[in-house]
Amino acid sequence: MIPQEKIAKMLAAYDKKKLKLATLCSHTALQIFYGARAEGIKTIGLCTRERKKFYDSFPLAKPDEYMIIDGFNSLPCEELAAQNAVLVPHGSLVEYAGSSINDLPVPIFGNRNSLLWEKSREKMSHWLNNAGLRTPKTINPQKIDRPCIVKFPGAKGGRGYIIVKSTDEFNIRVPNPPTGTLVQEYLIGVRAYPHYFYSPISKAGYAADSGSIELMSIDKRLESNVDECYREVAVGVEVKPSFTIIGNTPIVMRESLLPEVMEMGKRAVESAHALFGGIPGPFCIESIIDENLNFYAFEISARIVAGTNIFPNGSPYSLYSYGEPMSTGRRIARELKLAAKSSQLQKIIY
Ligand code: AMP
Repeated sequence: MIPQEKIAKMLAAYDKKKLKLATLCSHTALQIFYGARAEGIKTIGLCTRERKKFYDSFPLAKPDEYMIIDGFNSLPCEELAAQNAVLVPHGSLVEYAGSSINDLPVPIFGNRNSLLWEKSREKMSHWLNNAGLRTPKTINPQKIDRPCIVKFPGAKGGRGYIIVKSTDEFNIRVPNPPTGTLVQEYLIGVRAYPHYFYSPISKAGYAADSGSIELMSIDKRLESNVDECYREVAVGVEVKPSFTIIGNTPIVMRESLLPEVMEMGKRAVESAHALFGGIPGPFCIESIIDENLNFYAFEISARIVAGTNIFPNGSPYSLYSYGEPMSTGRRIARELKLAAKSSQLQKIIY
């Protein structure tokens, strides 16, 4: 892990009037570039040669400049630093850079420690429990007494998850479970993925830790083929549910549930502070709400999530904070500007 002092030293040498935001051309890049443009911040797209044509086809959301890369795991950190760039982590960056993300010699928006906590299932579970969030039970595969979801190590975006209802079924379908296989109680309810932004330098939102959190938006994912299974059932075709993420759809939640959404975010932020130094910037709590209105949290994404792509012009929640289009991507650029202006960049960048 590159020491925080080293990054702080790099940042101190940056020209604060020429700060740029950089990210991989993937995941939420269009939203991040579009939002930065609205805030007057220049952007750099780290892009493979083949993808450039795609990004160029969105004139208002393409980056101001490109750095062409051979693959997603070779990042030109020195060039980025020479350009006063701050790297914005998103799902693809976390996935492709793996744990090497912690050693990247370039300032990263947010706390890079949090990305390690997102990647490890053990750390994640410790974080959720430490935050006092209600979570699905982890079940011993030899004592399965209810429907369970089996999550294999390294599975991305729900790919390959299966549902089993007994130990016998588990032993037949997973004869050699890889180390790190997680068997979790299958929760029944409505999925909701609230997108938060924690600012340690603003008091305008819901008070949390030394700053405040803002509810930017809420989505739920569309997963193939569990979300469309009813069609197969209707036409009499048997289908095994699977959980591969295809896209996202917006949610507006019953207003009386929102205070709890805010409290959950606050607890996640304060626990992050205690466990690994905090989580400035965007994050998301993946949750399921049952028929008794109980929230269960099964994962936290410690960075911008793809569900925010639904809201490049803001959401029914961000409107009440800003009165102008404010996506999570734009909020990142706004925070960079506010922190630079008040000499607090070290609070939001590591
Ligand atoms: P994850 O990889 O943990 O983000 O999960 C991918 C998808 O699997 C989620 O979006 C849910 O649809 C589903 N899922 C994960 N955990 C559970 C659970 N404990 N109960 C029911 N569905 C789940």
